[in-house]
Amino acid sequence: MRKHTESELCAERAATVIPGGVNSPVRAFGGVGGTPVFIKEARGSRLIDVDGNSYLDLVGSWGPMILGHAHPEVVAAVQEAAAKGTSFGAPTSGEIDLAEEITSRTNCEEIRLVSSGTEATMSALRVARGATGRDKVVKFAGCYHGHADAFLAAAGSGVATLGAPDSPGVPASATADTIVVPYNDIDAVAAAFEQNEGQIAAVITEAVPGNMGCVAPADGFNQKLYDLTRANGALLISDEVMTGFRVGPGGVKAPADLYTYGKVMGGGLPAAAFGGRRDLMEQLAPVGPIYQAGTLSGNPLAVAAGLTTLRLLTDDVYEKLDGLAEQIGKMASSALSEAGVAHYLSAPGNLFSIFFSENRVTNFNEAKAQNTGQYAAFFHTLLEEGVHLPPSAFECWFVSAAMTGEDLSHLETAFSRAARKAAT
Ligand code: PLP
Repeated sequence: MRKHTESELCAERAATVIPGGVNSPVRAFGGVGGTPVFIKEARGSRLIDVDGNSYLDLVGSWGPMILGHAHPEVVAAVQEAAAKGTSFGAPTSGEIDLAEEITSRTNCEEIRLVSSGTEATMSALRVARGATGRDKVVKFAGCYHGHADAFLAAAGSGVATLGAPDSPGVPASATADTIVVPYNDIDAVAAAFEQNEGQIAAVITEAVPGNMGCVAPADGFNQKLYDLTRANGALLISDEVMTGFRVGPGGVKAPADLYTYGKVMGGGLPAAAFGGRRDLMEQLAPVGPIYQAGTLSGNPLAVAAGLTTLRLLTDDVYEKLDGLAEQIGKMASSALSEAGVAHYLSAPGNLFSIFFSENRVTNFNEAKAQNTGQYAAFFHTLLEEGVHLPPSAFECWFVSAAMTGEDLSHLETAFSRAARKAAT
Protein backbone atom coordinates (compact mmCIF):
# COMPACT_ATOMS: atom_id res chain seq x y z
CA MET A 1 0.00 0.00 0.00
CA ARG A 2 1.24 3.50 -0.85
CA LYS A 3 1.62 5.91 2.05
CA HIS A 4 -0.57 9.02 1.93
CA THR A 5 0.19 10.44 5.38
CA GLU A 6 1.31 13.86 4.12
CA SER A 7 -1.63 14.15 1.70
CA GLU A 8 -4.03 13.37 4.53
CA LEU A 9 -2.41 16.03 6.72
CA CYS A 10 -2.65 18.55 3.86
CA ALA A 11 -6.32 17.65 3.31
CA GLU A 12 -7.07 18.27 7.01
CA ARG A 13 -5.23 21.62 7.01
CA ALA A 14 -6.79 22.68 3.70
CA ALA A 15 -10.32 21.91 4.84
CA THR A 16 -10.05 24.49 7.64
CA VAL A 17 -9.21 27.41 5.32
CA ILE A 18 -10.44 26.41 1.83
CA PRO A 19 -14.01 25.13 1.25
CA GLY A 20 -13.73 21.36 0.86
CA GLY A 21 -9.94 21.79 0.86
CA VAL A 22 -9.84 22.47 -2.88
CA ASN A 23 -9.99 25.45 -5.21
CA SER A 24 -12.08 23.68 -7.84
CA PRO A 25 -14.70 21.11 -6.78
CA VAL A 26 -13.79 18.14 -9.00
CA ARG A 27 -10.35 17.95 -7.35
CA ALA A 28 -12.08 16.85 -4.13
CA PHE A 29 -12.64 13.20 -5.20
CA GLY A 30 -16.39 13.67 -4.63
CA GLY A 31 -17.12 11.44 -7.63
CA VAL A 32 -14.94 8.53 -6.46
CA GLY A 33 -14.67 8.94 -2.68
CA GLY A 34 -11.52 9.19 -0.56
CA THR A 35 -8.93 11.90 0.01
CA PRO A 36 -7.24 13.67 -2.89
CA VAL A 37 -3.47 13.38 -3.21
CA PHE A 38 -1.65 16.70 -2.87
CA ILE A 39 0.91 17.30 -5.58
CA LYS A 40 4.41 18.56 -4.85
CA GLU A 41 5.85 18.69 -8.35
CA ALA A 42 5.56 17.23 -11.84
CA ARG A 43 7.87 16.48 -14.73
CA GLY A 44 7.14 15.01 -18.14
CA SER A 45 4.36 12.43 -17.91
CA ARG A 46 4.53 12.11 -14.11
CA LEU A 47 3.19 13.79 -10.99
CA ILE A 48 4.89 13.44 -7.59
CA ASP A 49 2.75 13.83 -4.47
CA VAL A 50 3.76 15.23 -1.08
CA ASP A 51 4.48 11.67 0.17
CA GLY A 52 6.88 11.08 -2.74
CA ASN A 53 4.56 8.75 -4.71
CA SER A 54 4.82 9.00 -8.49
CA TYR A 55 1.82 8.85 -10.85
CA LEU A 56 1.52 8.58 -14.60
CA ASP A 57 -0.75 11.55 -15.33
CA LEU A 58 -3.83 11.07 -17.51
CA VAL A 59 -5.42 14.35 -16.38
CA GLY A 60 -2.81 16.88 -17.48
CA SER A 61 -4.33 19.66 -15.34
CA TRP A 62 -7.64 18.95 -17.17
CA GLY A 63 -6.12 19.66 -20.56
CA PRO A 64 -3.38 22.29 -20.60
CA MET A 65 -0.33 20.03 -20.07
CA ILE A 66 -0.36 18.57 -23.57
CA LEU A 67 3.45 18.59 -23.82
CA GLY A 68 3.84 17.07 -20.35
CA HIS A 69 4.85 18.87 -17.17
CA ALA A 70 7.69 21.37 -16.80
CA HIS A 71 8.63 21.19 -20.47
CA PRO A 72 12.12 22.78 -20.49
CA GLU A 73 11.32 25.24 -23.31
CA VAL A 74 8.06 26.36 -21.71
CA VAL A 75 9.76 26.77 -18.32
CA ALA A 76 12.59 28.79 -19.92
CA ALA A 77 10.10 31.06 -21.74
CA VAL A 78 8.21 31.74 -18.51
CA GLN A 79 11.44 32.42 -16.59
CA GLU A 80 12.63 34.79 -19.29
CA ALA A 81 9.30 36.63 -19.33
CA ALA A 82 9.12 36.83 -15.51
CA ALA A 83 12.56 38.41 -15.34
CA LYS A 84 11.29 41.23 -17.55
CA GLY A 85 8.24 42.03 -15.39
CA THR A 86 5.10 40.11 -14.63
CA SER A 87 2.32 42.49 -15.72
CA PHE A 88 2.23 45.90 -17.38
CA GLY A 89 -1.43 46.82 -17.92
CA ALA A 90 -0.38 48.04 -21.36
CA PRO A 91 -0.16 46.17 -24.67
CA THR A 92 2.86 43.99 -25.55
CA SER A 93 4.17 42.54 -28.81
CA GLY A 94 3.87 39.02 -27.31
CA GLU A 95 0.09 39.40 -27.32
CA ILE A 96 0.19 40.07 -31.07
CA ASP A 97 2.40 36.99 -31.59
CA LEU A 98 -0.08 34.80 -29.71
CA ALA A 99 -3.09 36.33 -31.48
CA GLU A 100 -1.38 35.75 -34.86
CA GLU A 101 -0.53 32.16 -33.93
CA ILE A 102 -4.16 31.50 -32.94
CA THR A 103 -5.78 33.24 -35.91
CA SER A 104 -3.44 31.39 -38.30
CA ARG A 105 -4.52 28.02 -36.85
CA THR A 106 -8.26 28.64 -36.46
CA ASN A 107 -11.25 30.12 -38.30
CA CYS A 108 -11.00 33.32 -36.20
CA GLU A 109 -10.24 36.60 -37.90
CA GLU A 110 -9.71 38.37 -34.60
CA ILE A 111 -9.39 37.18 -31.02
CA ARG A 112 -9.28 38.79 -27.61
CA LEU A 113 -7.25 37.31 -24.77
CA VAL A 114 -8.77 36.66 -21.33
CA SER A 115 -7.61 34.57 -18.37
CA SER A 116 -10.05 31.64 -18.14
CA GLY A 117 -12.43 29.60 -20.24
CA THR A 118 -15.28 30.93 -18.10
CA GLU A 119 -14.43 34.49 -19.10
CA ALA A 120 -14.10 33.45 -22.74
CA THR A 121 -17.58 31.89 -23.02
CA MET A 122 -19.20 34.62 -20.93
CA SER A 123 -17.69 37.27 -23.21
CA ALA A 124 -18.58 35.42 -26.42
CA LEU A 125 -22.20 35.27 -25.27
CA ARG A 126 -22.13 39.01 -24.56
CA VAL A 127 -20.88 39.66 -28.10
CA ALA A 128 -23.62 37.42 -29.52
CA ARG A 129 -26.31 39.17 -27.50
CA GLY A 130 -24.95 42.63 -28.28
CA ALA A 131 -24.59 41.91 -31.98
CA THR A 132 -28.03 40.35 -32.47
CA GLY A 133 -29.97 42.50 -29.98
CA ARG A 134 -31.49 39.25 -28.66
CA ASP A 135 -31.20 37.68 -25.18
CA LYS A 136 -31.86 33.94 -25.34
CA VAL A 137 -29.20 31.26 -25.62
CA VAL A 138 -29.56 27.57 -26.39
CA LYS A 139 -27.17 25.21 -24.62
CA PHE A 140 -26.97 21.43 -24.42
CA ALA A 141 -27.54 19.37 -21.28
CA GLY A 142 -24.19 17.96 -20.17
CA CYS A 143 -22.12 20.60 -21.97
CA TYR A 144 -20.04 22.73 -19.59
CA HIS A 145 -19.06 26.24 -20.54
CA GLY A 146 -17.54 27.44 -17.28
CA HIS A 147 -19.35 28.81 -14.26
CA ALA A 148 -20.86 32.09 -15.50
CA ASP A 149 -24.47 32.36 -14.32
CA ALA A 150 -26.14 32.05 -17.74
CA PHE A 151 -24.50 28.66 -18.39
CA LEU A 152 -25.21 27.01 -15.03
CA ALA A 153 -28.35 25.37 -16.32
CA ALA A 154 -28.52 21.85 -17.63
CA ALA A 155 -32.07 21.17 -16.54
CA GLY A 156 -33.21 17.70 -17.55
CA SER A 157 -33.97 16.44 -20.98
CA GLY A 158 -37.05 17.05 -23.08
CA VAL A 159 -37.51 19.51 -25.87
CA ALA A 160 -36.54 23.09 -25.08
CA THR A 161 -36.70 22.81 -21.28
CA LEU A 162 -36.55 26.34 -20.03
CA GLY A 163 -33.39 26.54 -17.90
CA ALA A 164 -33.61 26.25 -14.14
CA PRO A 165 -30.44 27.21 -12.24
CA ASP A 166 -28.11 24.34 -11.30
CA SER A 167 -26.64 26.19 -8.34
CA PRO A 168 -27.98 28.22 -5.44
CA GLY A 169 -26.73 31.75 -5.90
CA VAL A 170 -27.62 31.77 -9.58
CA PRO A 171 -30.85 33.79 -9.73
CA ALA A 172 -33.62 32.27 -11.82
CA SER A 173 -33.52 35.52 -13.81
CA ALA A 174 -29.91 34.76 -14.85
CA THR A 175 -30.92 31.49 -16.52
CA ALA A 176 -34.40 32.54 -17.60
CA ASP A 177 -33.01 33.17 -21.08
CA THR A 178 -31.10 29.86 -21.20
CA ILE A 179 -32.85 27.09 -23.10
CA VAL A 180 -31.46 23.63 -22.40
CA VAL A 181 -31.89 20.86 -24.98
CA PRO A 182 -30.49 17.30 -25.22
CA TYR A 183 -27.16 16.95 -27.01
CA ASN A 184 -27.20 15.48 -30.53
CA ASP A 185 -30.91 16.29 -30.88
CA ILE A 186 -31.18 18.64 -33.85
CA ASP A 187 -35.02 18.51 -33.76
CA ALA A 188 -34.95 19.89 -30.21
CA VAL A 189 -32.84 22.83 -31.40
CA ALA A 190 -35.21 23.44 -34.32
CA ALA A 191 -38.17 23.32 -31.91
CA ALA A 192 -36.44 25.86 -29.62
CA PHE A 193 -36.12 28.23 -32.59
CA GLU A 194 -39.78 27.73 -33.51
CA GLN A 195 -40.98 28.36 -29.97
CA ASN A 196 -38.75 31.44 -29.47
CA GLU A 197 -38.92 33.04 -32.86
CA GLY A 198 -36.68 36.09 -33.24
CA GLN A 199 -35.45 35.83 -29.62
CA ILE A 200 -32.44 33.49 -29.71
CA ALA A 201 -29.08 35.26 -29.87
CA ALA A 202 -26.93 32.14 -30.02
CA VAL A 203 -26.55 28.41 -29.74
CA ILE A 204 -23.47 27.41 -27.75
CA THR A 205 -21.99 23.94 -28.07
CA GLU A 206 -18.78 22.15 -27.16
CA ALA A 207 -17.20 21.32 -30.52
CA VAL A 208 -16.81 17.77 -29.16
CA PRO A 209 -18.37 17.55 -25.70
CA GLY A 210 -15.90 16.49 -23.03
CA ASN A 211 -17.68 17.36 -19.82
CA MET A 212 -20.14 14.45 -19.60
CA GLY A 213 -17.33 12.08 -20.52
CA CYS A 214 -16.36 12.35 -24.16
CA VAL A 215 -19.37 12.26 -26.50
CA ALA A 216 -19.06 12.30 -30.28
CA PRO A 217 -21.25 14.71 -32.24
CA ALA A 218 -23.52 12.79 -34.64
CA ASP A 219 -22.46 12.99 -38.30
CA GLY A 220 -22.91 16.56 -39.52
CA PHE A 221 -24.32 17.77 -36.17
CA ASN A 222 -22.07 20.86 -35.91
CA GLN A 223 -22.84 21.80 -39.53
CA LYS A 224 -26.59 21.38 -38.95
CA LEU A 225 -26.37 23.65 -35.92
CA TYR A 226 -24.61 26.25 -38.04
CA ASP A 227 -27.29 25.97 -40.75
CA LEU A 228 -30.10 26.32 -38.20
CA THR A 229 -28.55 29.41 -36.61
CA ARG A 230 -28.09 30.90 -40.11
CA ALA A 231 -31.71 30.25 -41.01
CA ASN A 232 -32.91 31.92 -37.81
CA GLY A 233 -30.70 35.01 -37.64
CA ALA A 234 -28.79 33.66 -34.64
CA LEU A 235 -25.08 32.99 -34.06
CA LEU A 236 -23.25 29.76 -33.27
CA ILE A 237 -20.61 29.74 -30.53
CA SER A 238 -18.27 26.78 -30.75
CA ASP A 239 -16.66 26.22 -27.35
CA GLU A 240 -13.20 24.82 -28.00
CA VAL A 241 -11.80 25.47 -24.53
CA MET A 242 -11.09 21.74 -24.21
CA THR A 243 -10.64 20.73 -27.85
CA GLY A 244 -8.78 23.80 -29.13
CA PHE A 245 -5.16 23.01 -30.11
CA ARG A 246 -5.56 19.50 -28.59
CA VAL A 247 -7.46 17.46 -31.16
CA GLY A 248 -5.52 19.10 -33.99
CA PRO A 249 -3.46 22.22 -34.75
CA GLY A 250 -6.53 24.48 -34.63
CA GLY A 251 -8.98 22.28 -32.74
CA VAL A 252 -12.17 20.88 -34.28
CA LYS A 253 -12.68 23.98 -36.50
CA ALA A 254 -16.38 23.29 -37.14
CA PRO A 255 -18.22 26.20 -38.79
CA ALA A 256 -19.28 28.88 -36.29
CA ASP A 257 -19.43 32.64 -35.80
CA LEU A 258 -17.61 32.80 -32.49
CA TYR A 259 -15.13 30.42 -30.85
CA THR A 260 -13.74 30.10 -27.34
CA TYR A 261 -10.34 28.71 -26.31
CA GLY A 262 -8.42 28.08 -23.09
CA LYS A 263 -6.43 25.24 -21.49
CA VAL A 264 -3.71 24.28 -24.08
CA MET A 265 -3.28 27.86 -25.33
CA GLY A 266 -2.03 28.92 -21.87
CA GLY A 267 0.54 26.13 -21.58
CA GLY A 268 -0.43 25.68 -17.90
CA LEU A 269 -0.75 29.39 -17.09
CA PRO A 270 -4.03 31.34 -17.07
CA ALA A 271 -4.72 32.32 -20.67
CA ALA A 272 -7.87 31.91 -22.73
CA ALA A 273 -9.46 33.66 -25.68
CA PHE A 274 -12.64 34.27 -27.61
CA GLY A 275 -12.74 35.23 -31.23
CA GLY A 276 -14.40 34.86 -34.58
CA ARG A 277 -15.69 37.00 -37.42
CA ARG A 278 -14.11 40.44 -37.65
CA ASP A 279 -17.46 42.24 -37.95
CA LEU A 280 -18.54 40.69 -34.64
CA MET A 281 -15.26 41.18 -32.79
CA GLU A 282 -15.08 44.81 -33.94
CA GLN A 283 -18.24 45.49 -31.94
CA LEU A 284 -16.16 45.15 -28.76
CA ALA A 285 -14.89 48.18 -26.84
CA PRO A 286 -12.86 50.22 -27.58
CA VAL A 287 -13.91 49.96 -31.27
CA GLY A 288 -17.58 49.30 -30.59
CA PRO A 289 -20.00 49.56 -27.67
CA ILE A 290 -19.89 46.00 -26.22
CA TYR A 291 -17.85 46.19 -23.02
CA GLN A 292 -15.33 43.56 -21.97
CA ALA A 293 -12.03 43.98 -20.07
CA GLY A 294 -9.43 42.35 -17.79
CA THR A 295 -6.54 43.61 -15.59
CA LEU A 296 -4.44 40.51 -16.30
CA SER A 297 -5.70 39.76 -19.84
CA GLY A 298 -2.74 38.96 -22.09
CA ASN A 299 -0.47 38.52 -19.07
CA PRO A 300 3.14 38.26 -20.32
CA LEU A 301 3.95 35.02 -18.46
CA ALA A 302 0.79 33.32 -19.72
CA VAL A 303 1.43 34.59 -23.24
CA ALA A 304 5.02 33.25 -23.15
CA ALA A 305 3.90 29.82 -21.91
CA GLY A 306 1.04 29.64 -24.41
CA LEU A 307 2.99 30.79 -27.42
CA THR A 308 5.89 28.42 -26.70
CA THR A 309 3.46 25.53 -26.22
CA LEU A 310 1.61 26.22 -29.47
CA ARG A 311 4.85 26.55 -31.45
CA LEU A 312 6.01 23.18 -30.11
CA LEU A 313 2.73 21.55 -31.21
CA THR A 314 3.76 20.44 -34.68
CA ASP A 315 2.05 17.84 -36.90
CA ASP A 316 4.43 15.15 -35.56
CA VAL A 317 3.33 15.87 -32.02
CA TYR A 318 -0.35 15.56 -32.99
CA GLU A 319 0.41 12.25 -34.67
CA LYS A 320 2.04 11.02 -31.47
CA LEU A 321 -0.89 12.23 -29.33
CA ASP A 322 -3.43 10.52 -31.61
CA GLY A 323 -1.45 7.26 -31.50
CA LEU A 324 -1.10 7.36 -27.71
CA ALA A 325 -4.79 8.05 -27.19
CA GLU A 326 -5.76 5.19 -29.48
CA GLN A 327 -3.38 2.74 -27.80
CA ILE A 328 -4.32 3.72 -24.25
CA GLY A 329 -8.06 3.66 -24.97
CA LYS A 330 -7.83 0.21 -26.57
CA MET A 331 -5.59 -1.10 -23.80
CA ALA A 332 -8.06 -0.05 -21.09
CA SER A 333 -10.99 -1.39 -23.10
CA SER A 334 -9.32 -4.82 -23.64
CA ALA A 335 -8.50 -5.08 -19.92
CA LEU A 336 -12.15 -4.34 -19.06
CA SER A 337 -13.44 -6.82 -21.67
CA GLU A 338 -11.13 -9.54 -20.32
CA ALA A 339 -12.43 -8.90 -16.81
CA GLY A 340 -16.04 -8.99 -18.09
CA VAL A 341 -16.80 -5.33 -17.26
CA ALA A 342 -19.43 -3.76 -19.52
CA HIS A 343 -18.11 -0.50 -20.96
CA TYR A 344 -18.17 1.79 -23.97
CA LEU A 345 -14.98 3.40 -25.28
CA SER A 346 -15.87 6.79 -26.71
CA ALA A 347 -12.95 8.10 -28.72
CA PRO A 348 -13.86 10.69 -31.32
CA GLY A 349 -10.24 11.93 -31.44
CA ASN A 350 -7.31 12.09 -29.05
CA LEU A 351 -9.80 13.11 -26.37
CA PHE A 352 -11.49 9.97 -25.13
CA SER A 353 -13.21 8.39 -22.16
CA ILE A 354 -14.67 5.08 -21.09
CA PHE A 355 -18.26 4.87 -19.92
CA PHE A 356 -18.99 1.99 -17.55
CA SER A 357 -22.11 1.13 -19.44
CA GLU A 358 -22.82 -1.37 -22.21
CA ASN A 359 -24.60 1.13 -24.40
CA ARG A 360 -23.31 3.70 -26.81
CA VAL A 361 -23.46 7.17 -25.23
CA THR A 362 -24.78 10.08 -27.31
CA ASN A 363 -26.11 12.49 -24.67
CA PHE A 364 -26.07 13.38 -20.97
CA ASN A 365 -28.92 11.08 -19.92
CA GLU A 366 -27.16 8.10 -21.46
CA ALA A 367 -23.88 9.19 -19.83
CA LYS A 368 -25.60 9.33 -16.45
CA ALA A 369 -26.83 5.75 -16.84
CA GLN A 370 -23.31 4.35 -16.32
CA ASN A 371 -22.06 2.45 -13.25
CA THR A 372 -20.07 5.12 -11.39
CA GLY A 373 -19.34 2.71 -8.52
CA GLN A 374 -17.36 0.51 -10.91
CA TYR A 375 -15.48 3.56 -12.16
CA ALA A 376 -14.56 4.46 -8.55
CA ALA A 377 -13.09 0.96 -7.99
CA PHE A 378 -11.18 1.21 -11.29
CA PHE A 379 -9.93 4.71 -10.39
CA HIS A 380 -8.71 3.84 -6.88
CA THR A 381 -6.89 0.69 -8.00
CA LEU A 382 -5.14 2.73 -10.68
CA LEU A 383 -4.17 5.40 -8.15
CA GLU A 384 -2.65 2.67 -5.98
CA GLU A 385 -0.84 1.38 -9.10
CA GLY A 386 0.57 4.87 -9.74
CA VAL A 387 -1.81 6.09 -12.45
CA HIS A 388 -3.71 9.37 -12.10
CA LEU A 389 -7.07 9.24 -13.92
CA PRO A 390 -9.74 11.96 -13.65
CA PRO A 391 -11.52 11.51 -10.29
CA SER A 392 -14.91 11.37 -12.01
CA ALA A 393 -16.55 9.08 -14.55
CA PHE A 394 -17.80 12.16 -16.42
CA GLU A 395 -14.44 13.48 -17.60
CA CYS A 396 -12.17 12.90 -20.57
CA TRP A 397 -8.77 11.28 -20.27
CA PHE A 398 -5.91 13.48 -21.46
CA VAL A 399 -2.69 12.15 -23.00
CA SER A 400 0.54 14.13 -23.20
CA ALA A 401 3.37 14.05 -25.71
CA ALA A 402 5.76 13.28 -22.82
CA MET A 403 4.41 9.72 -22.44
CA THR A 404 6.89 6.94 -23.17
CA GLY A 405 6.86 3.26 -24.12
CA GLU A 406 7.68 2.49 -20.49
CA ASP A 407 4.56 4.41 -19.44
CA LEU A 408 2.49 2.24 -21.81
CA SER A 409 3.85 -0.98 -20.28
CA HIS A 410 3.11 0.38 -16.81
CA LEU A 411 -0.46 1.16 -17.93
CA GLU A 412 -1.01 -2.31 -19.37
CA THR A 413 -0.35 -4.01 -16.03
CA ALA A 414 -2.21 -1.35 -14.05
CA PHE A 415 -5.31 -1.50 -16.28
CA SER A 416 -5.63 -5.25 -15.98
CA ARG A 417 -5.42 -5.12 -12.15
CA ALA A 418 -7.91 -2.22 -12.03
CA ALA A 419 -10.32 -3.95 -14.42
CA ARG A 420 -10.33 -7.10 -12.24
CA LYS A 421 -11.09 -4.92 -9.20
CA ALA A 422 -13.90 -3.13 -11.06
CA ALA A 423 -15.41 -6.52 -11.89
CA THR A 424 -15.75 -7.54 -8.23
N1 PLP B 1 -15.62 25.40 -21.67
C1 PLP B 1 -15.24 24.11 -21.66
C2 PLP B 1 -15.59 23.24 -22.83
C3 PLP B 1 -14.51 23.58 -20.60
O1 PLP B 1 -14.15 22.29 -20.60
C4 PLP B 1 -14.18 24.43 -19.51
C5 PLP B 1 -13.44 23.92 -18.35
O2 PLP B 1 -13.31 22.75 -18.13
C6 PLP B 1 -14.60 25.77 -19.57
C7 PLP B 1 -15.31 26.23 -20.66
C8 PLP B 1 -14.25 26.71 -18.44
O3 PLP B 1 -12.88 26.97 -18.42
P1 PLP B 1 -12.16 27.49 -17.09
O4 PLP B 1 -12.17 26.34 -16.12
O5 PLP B 1 -10.79 27.87 -17.56
O6 PLP B 1 -12.94 28.66 -16.59
